[in-house]
Amino acid sequence: MPSEFELIERCFKRRTHHTLLGIGDDGALIVPTAGHELVVSTDLLVEGTHFFPDVDPEDLGWKTLAVNVSDMAAMGAQPRWATLGIAVSPEPTFSWLDDFARGFFACADEFGVDLIGGDTTRGPRCFAVTIMGEVPAGQALRRSGAQLGDEIWVSGFPGRAARGLAHLQDRAPLGDQQLADCLAALHRPQPRVALGLALRGIAHAAIDVSDGLLADLGHILEESGVSATLDSLPQNVDNAYLAGGDDYELVFSAPATRSADIAALAEQLQLPLTRIGRIEAGLPGSLRVIDSAGQDMTPAKRGFDHFR
Ligand code: ADP
Ligand code: MG
Repeated sequence: MPSEFELIERCFKRRTHHTLLGIGDDGALIVPTAGHELVVSTDLLVEGTHFFPDVDPEDLGWKTLAVNVSDMAAMGAQPRWATLGIAVSPEPTFSWLDDFARGFFACADEFGVDLIGGDTTRGPRCFAVTIMGEVPAGQALRRSGAQLGDEIWVSGFPGRAARGLAHLQDRAPLGDQQLADCLAALHRPQPRVALGLALRGIAHAAIDVSDGLLADLGHILEESGVSATLDSLPQNVDNAYLAGGDDYELVFSAPATRSADIAALAEQLQLPLTRIGRIEAGLPGSLRVIDSAGQDMTPAKRGFDHFR
């Protein structure tokens, strides 16, 4: 049985790249870049709620950081530093946490995040990350910025993670081809950092899809005091696309005058960006969904809610 300190030393202490003082003291020291604002966000992953007990620890390590990096992407921020709070029972000792750490640091390396501290305790398994990123002063993408006439866009392929989960739960089996993509989306979400950075100065509002496309778009609408109609959705849009959570794609609104820039961005980033509707005046937060045959298909449930 390793001690708490052996465990931190072995699994989580790594070289940092842009940190004055990292793991090992009572606090870390970081030097924010002049002229920038710090963007701070926390996400918690709890066994039984966010992951199965038999999850692959390396995938879980990736996802634990990736969902936080995604919040930086949604703010248009460059991810920089993170802390990691861990509760584990004594059993999954070195080898489980080694694997977790490998996935975590793969994500950290990919997105330039230094792990600068945390806390480790015995308890029902859960992981909490606080992430910090930087954005030039005044340029963060907020939920509250959507304007009348904006077009609404979404990145990537929403619904894949929910389809992967439905497959694993024997609710809706997938064929081999789809299965690989859907399980990758579920286990190894790719935060859209390059997109978030490129959308500074283009998008009026942005959010990442963690609870469901409609649910998360709903937050933009409420915060911006506007309504929306989605009338250019891809054909065969299903409930997983509209209300499946866990995709970590970005939904954003931008003026119609920037649509060519956004199309160019999709090309440059090799990432599909789909225009699905527009911002309108109306009851704040309200949302109409029109299918490709012109029928109203506004669903009852917009997404996942931990308390409903
Ligand atoms: P303190 O008792 O002063 O809170 P700890 O003994 O809990 O400090 O932690 C020692 C050092 O290890 C601190 O720098 C802390 O930030 C770091 N640390 C503890 N747990 C983790 C973890 N899971 N991941 C990264 N760093 C950690
Ligand atoms: Mg402590």
